Amino acid sequence: MTKLVEIPVKVEIYDSLSDWNVETGEGEHITARRLKGRFRNIKNMTMSVWLIYFLGPYLRWNGEQAILLDIPKQQFHLFSITLFPQDIWVLSLALLFLAIMLAAATGVAGRVFCGYFCFQTVWTDAFSYIEGKLEGNTPQKAHKFKAAPWSSNKLVRKLSKHSLWLLISVLTGISFAAWFVDAFKLWQQIITLTAAKPVWIAVGTFTFFTYWFAGFMREQVCFWLCPYARLQGVMYDQDTVLPAYDAERGEPRTKYSKQSSSDDGSCIDCNLCVAVCPTGIDIRKGQQEGCITCGLCIDACDSIMDKIKQPKGLIRYSSYKELHKGEAALSLVKRPRVIVYSLILLLSVAGIIYGFTHFSPTEFKVVHERQPLFVKMSDGSIQNKYTLKLLNKTKQTLLIKYEISGLTNATVSGIDRIFEIEPGKIIPITALVRQVPSGNDKSALEYFNFIASAVNNDAIKAEYNTVFISQ
Ligand code: SF4
Ligand code: SF4
Repeated sequence: MTKLVEIPVKVEIYDSLSDWNVETGEGEHITARRLKGRFRNIKNMTMSVWLIYFLGPYLRWNGEQAILLDIPKQQFHLFSITLFPQDIWVLSLALLFLAIMLAAATGVAGRVFCGYFCFQTVWTDAFSYIEGKLEGNTPQKAHKFKAAPWSSNKLVRKLSKHSLWLLISVLTGISFAAWFVDAFKLWQQIITLTAAKPVWIAVGTFTFFTYWFAGFMREQVCFWLCPYARLQGVMYDQDTVLPAYDAERGEPRTKYSKQSSSDDGSCIDCNLCVAVCPTGIDIRKGQQEGCITCGLCIDACDSIMDKIKQPKGLIRYSSYKELHKGEAALSLVKRPRVIVYSLILLLSVAGIIYGFTHFSPTEFKVVHERQPLFVKMSDGSIQNKYTLKLLNKTKQTLLIKYEISGLTNATVSGIDRIFEIEPGKIIPITALVRQVPSGNDKSALEYFNFIASAVNNDAIKAEYNTVFISQ
């Protein structure tokens, strides 16, 4: 018999988890062991993207909040651009882009969004880190802490944990509200208790749900509440790479101390892959709905393989084809769903770029009076009535001059002065256009333009083509 590992090393059998039951959802939340490793580092880096959520509202641009969703004024300020409800299609394209990105990422590499970016897993990770520091960072230590009788030390640790959780939850709530109102003013209003009721409701709701979901519900949100977890199955195919256990290499699993033959599998049944899993599943049982593809079990198993001098990769990102059929995964450019997703992504990016590069500083509309369509005046002339609406999308007050062009023998009244339009405002103007019939045979409809130009900004000029009705 050949001894598989010659260097004597001690490998613990890792206690799995709490008594939480993945299948039934009963029991306490999971206390996952934390280990260093490649995927832990990637997760830490991607988690740090969420700092934008906390810091973004304090970013200033030309003295104002750089990104502000001003719901009462129905304006979305994005650096020097202001989007109005009329520009909502650009935001819709941006949302489409994000949704397709999510579907494409899932098709290629499973629930990477869940594992690396999702606010639920990110906040849970931060909360469990605090809990681990104060109450024990392994299931054994956590159980011991829980079972210990109450003492001042235990009380201080419990209070510290809940205070830190609450602090993060309150900051999460305030940061959410800060995207909708001026962030610095918001702090003033909160400190002086003068914030508006909707602000308190938003902050309170976010604080409560963050505290509850990240502190207590944790992975159960992924299992029982998240709709995305239910949809993921339809986004996978046999080429999707997911963290997977190489059963052919790992089985029959044999405790390290009992390994004696080359027939023994590489898995030494140490359970570390289960102990680190934030959703408490055993990847060796195959792909499961609860796997958020975070790769932490890969780090765990690789560290064991290092210890017992075996090649890494017993658990690795791998496709069904590679693992079960021995075939290489199809390259991305040959996968129909990746091609379709990429095309939609490209189209939405093109639309977003077009939108952002073609924003008009004004939105000019002319509405022709319907009842009556025209009026025959006592002097024989024909009069049409119009309502002119110009939305000022700039951040300066515009002085607007209106005129018409392209209509012969016409006079216009109601627009013979300069109109002052403040930023974000529309001032409806009534214009009466009169035309004296020329006597020649002419069409009942004549097209002409209303022109709006800012006398205090040469770059602003808008035209609207409309119709003059005379019969
Ligand atoms: S099985 Fe592995 S990849 Fe899946 S959630 Fe658990 S640790 Fe993460
Ligand atoms: S798969 Fe790796 S980490 Fe998991 S029990 Fe086997 S050897 Fe241990």
